[in-house]
Amino acid sequence: MIRVTASTPVLSYIPFSVVREMLMDNPRKHDRTSWLQGPPETCSTVPPAVDNPWRLILLGAPGVGKGTQAALLRKELHACHLSTGDVFRAAKGRSECDLTPAMKSALDYMHRGELVPDSFVLAMVRERAACLRCRGGFILDGFPRTVEQAESLNLLLHDERVHLTAVINYELPVGEIVARLSGRLTCQRCKAVFHGTERPPKVTGSCDICEGKLNQREDDRPESVRVRLDAYDRSTFPLIQFYKRSALLLTVAAAGTPQDVCSKTLTALHAWRSRYIASA
Ligand code: AMP
Repeated sequence: MIRVTASTPVLSYIPFSVVREMLMDNPRKHDRTSWLQGPPETCSTVPPAVDNPWRLILLGAPGVGKGTQAALLRKELHACHLSTGDVFRAAKGRSECDLTPAMKSALDYMHRGELVPDSFVLAMVRERAACLRCRGGFILDGFPRTVEQAESLNLLLHDERVHLTAVINYELPVGEIVARLSGRLTCQRCKAVFHGTERPPKVTGSCDICEGKLNQREDDRPESVRVRLDAYDRSTFPLIQFYKRSALLLTVAAAGTPQDVCSKTLTALHAWRSRYIASA
């Protein structure tokens, strides 16, 4: 069973203007190169140094909008958006001969909607540990997903001499999660997100922004969605207790428009930091 909070299901997607802004917002400026492409790649522009950078983890079932929130929060907080799912999707776009056997097998897990084994995910994150001490801070989306990953992340952060600011847990009723995921359509080219009924494209199957082909993400197929929600319940839900024990957890209701949810998140974060400073 997925634990959910009661609220009115309102399907919400990133408004067109926001998608356009995100895409036009000079992708090279936040290209996440070393995170997406691996340690030999360097980021074309290093984020500005900020006082007290935000180092956040976003938790929540698939479909609550963690990726959308990470993109919006990145703009507000100037921290890097680090998504393990994006690393796998970037690998999927490469030719077969560029993929290691381990990555090929990881992509098979992803295709079925299952979690990629911890050993592989941890090796991949360890290779990219330098991103954890990015001077702009970070927003981890999709990692950690198991208690073992969370424990290893604690060790990595300790080695990098940085610590987490907060862990945000997004909650959404399960009916809305399923509706969001099963109707979601993603542009193959620019990655803009549409929805079959709630936010249909002007021309069926074609992206309003770049006219790229719209596809259902393969792990958004109903059979994969079921597996992903089960995996969340079994492996990721225990993380909520894990972070509650370390007093880092903030819970935010993910119903409403992306901007509403982002504003709620920022309010919660700033209140959290003021309380922390006041008690220090
Ligand atoms: P996401 O975009 O975060 O929903 O991730 C898409 C898929 O990538 C998941 O369903 C998993 O198959 C895989 N994946 C991403 N991050 C992790 C992780 N931290 N641990 C295990 N599998 C992951």
